[in-house]
Amino acid sequence: MSEKNQGKLQGKHAVVTGGGRGIGAAIADALAAEGANVTLLGRNMDVLKAKAETLPQATPLACDVTDRAAVEAVFAEARENYGSVDILVNNAGAAHPAPFMKTSPDDLQAMLDVNLKGPWHCIQAVLPDMLEKDSGRIINIASTAALIGYKYVTAYSAAKHAVQGMTRSLALELANKGVTVNSVCPGFTETDIAFDAIDNIMSKTGRSREQAIAELAKHNPQKRFIQPEEVASAVLWLCEDVNRSMTGQAISVAGGEVM
Ligand code: NDP
Repeated sequence: MSEKNQGKLQGKHAVVTGGGRGIGAAIADALAAEGANVTLLGRNMDVLKAKAETLPQATPLACDVTDRAAVEAVFAEARENYGSVDILVNNAGAAHPAPFMKTSPDDLQAMLDVNLKGPWHCIQAVLPDMLEKDSGRIINIASTAALIGYKYVTAYSAAKHAVQGMTRSLALELANKGVTVNSVCPGFTETDIAFDAIDNIMSKTGRSREQAIAELAKHNPQKRFIQPEEVASAVLWLCEDVNRSMTGQAISVAGGEVM
């Protein structure tokens, strides 16, 4: 790429948790296409390596985001590779649907660990450097389930609502420090999470695959699944320098489901 055509994120260091597949992989594509050096985090090194090989400048690092010590170690390694982190995308997450009375305190804890504490650990790992530079972008991939309720996902929805609370409060705390904090809130998006939800509906209700897909897609007024690239586009927009006024927001990518 010539100097004239440099990407908007040329030379920036972006970390994408859960960057090996699904929405995270699409986010990694979008950031790398604008010139960012991308660190991909996740538990499955084979998946991460395969994704990294498709990107111009990316390093895969294995890490379970629920493990505080592992997070600290892996962010230190990432910093060695590409310098301090400019963009953190907290994308790693998981959903395990179940009726409320079949959701144990351990199940709740598991949802909080990956969806809330994971982002918390990662933010605390990057923030000192961002404060030092007076600059940074923190983007949490929350969910429409951070903004409205859905039946049979109380633990997931509670964790994602908490992510939104964290986003809003931290945005205020950092408002005059050059660091923005936002959430991107997808509706049902075509990834393994949605495929698992389809399988779950089929096995629990005896519905056909087409019926299960229609059941989920009907939440979206556009009657379709969101594509991972659409979520990635919102993330990229939040990273642009010119969008520094955007902070504490929840950007729904959901075909009008939440407004
Ligand atoms: P996928 O299941 O395709 O991807 C989840 C990613 O998270 C994987 O890369 C996985 O990697 C990583 N991950 C999960 N647990 C951990 C962990 N403990 N430590 C590190 N990485 C972990 O799902 P999506 O791409 O759909 O999900 C991405 C985000 O988008 C999630 O936060 C999800 O809640 C959110 N979202 C998804 C929606 C959807 O309909 N798909 C809708 C709304 C929000 P690995 O297994 O290798 O660790």
